[in-house]
Amino acid sequence: MTQALLVINAGSSSIKFALYTVADGVPTPRYRGQADGLGASIGSLQIRDNRGERLLHEELPESDGHDEALDRALNWLEERLEGHELVGAGHRVVHGGPEFSRPVRITHSCLHELERFRELAPLHQPHNLRAIHAVARVRPHMPQVACFDTAVHRQQPRVAQRFALPRQYENKGVLRYGFHGLSYEYIASVLPEHDRRAAEGRTIVAHLGNGASMCALHDGQSVASTMGFTALDGLPMGQRCGNIDPGVILYLLQNEGMDAAGIEDLLYRRSGLLGLSGISADMRQLLESDRQEAAEAVEYYVYRAVREAGSLTAALGGLDAFVFTAGIGENAAPVRAAICERLAWLGITLDPEANARNAGCITTADSQVPVYVIPTNEELMIAQHTLRVLG
Ligand code: ADP
Repeated sequence: MTQALLVINAGSSSIKFALYTVADGVPTPRYRGQADGLGASIGSLQIRDNRGERLLHEELPESDGHDEALDRALNWLEERLEGHELVGAGHRVVHGGPEFSRPVRITHSCLHELERFRELAPLHQPHNLRAIHAVARVRPHMPQVACFDTAVHRQQPRVAQRFALPRQYENKGVLRYGFHGLSYEYIASVLPEHDRRAAEGRTIVAHLGNGASMCALHDGQSVASTMGFTALDGLPMGQRCGNIDPGVILYLLQNEGMDAAGIEDLLYRRSGLLGLSGISADMRQLLESDRQEAAEAVEYYVYRAVREAGSLTAALGGLDAFVFTAGIGENAAPVRAAICERLAWLGITLDPEANARNAGCITTADSQVPVYVIPTNEELMIAQHTLRVLG
């Protein structure tokens, strides 16, 4: 009997999932779905086939949470396995802490360990874990695998992982973890198809989505990244601040009367593009706006991206290629153009026409450093890891 796998990416009020079937060791998506508005008054469950055709769209009762939504989705999918055996579920888990440098089969002790990182990724970790608990309740015998966004960065040189704090904190796990690792792993896996020389050399990958970070890859391995102990550091994001002087946090505590919960809310939910513009966290809306505040938020976004690219180039000792990926990276031509133009000193010569149509390569043939636009596929990485872990 051939195998099937469930891939799950759970957020605060939604769960994205996909059913993959496996032929000759290669996972292929068959159905993709999303449960939205979990716990809200109007929830919905949608499932589409791999051509995007909607096969199911039903409202979820107000009482439905993660358990009920996953149970409904599983019931629907299990009726359509067509002889495939559903061998397990793979989850995206944002924070694997110091312990997990590769995907693992989930056990009680592993779950216990992952609970420790809830506060380090408050937008994601609690929801990732909630989905694991939900599957365990509705399908107690289904093997589950955790695939970590931090895992590929655990091999970075120690100097790239450290903070200049007394060593006792490092021993307690206060390190830079980097995130978006599943995306970087996917890009590293397909980069040889685009540019073999760059794949073996020094590449910066800019994952510019709602969350955003950059990673320096050397021969496909992460050597430095912009996110740190938490997914707040580095580039400004939709609602997260990115790089900030830690003195600002002290100031907020000491002079603004804020407590930890208030500062967490400020830095994770009210900053970034949203905070700067006062208009939206969504890049598309900012690009469409004619207000000065929107233009200034985009200007800051580009400025920080350019500065981080310079820093990662220094960590790599030069640059052979640059890759844009995720929502903004794959679609926002004006943002890519502004970043590339400010990185001309690195040997990047933009081809404006190729950039405007989101071409795979957006630099001229004689650009010293080629720039690629490569759609990411974290879901496929989770499917591949899950298959491997479950043997
Ligand atoms: P997530 O991190 O939630 O997966 P995505 O990778 O989907 O996010 O990226 C979302 C971001 O991509 C949003 O800021 C959105 O405005 C931006 N985006 C998507 N399409 C476009 C577009 N055509 N032009 C500009 N920005 C876009």
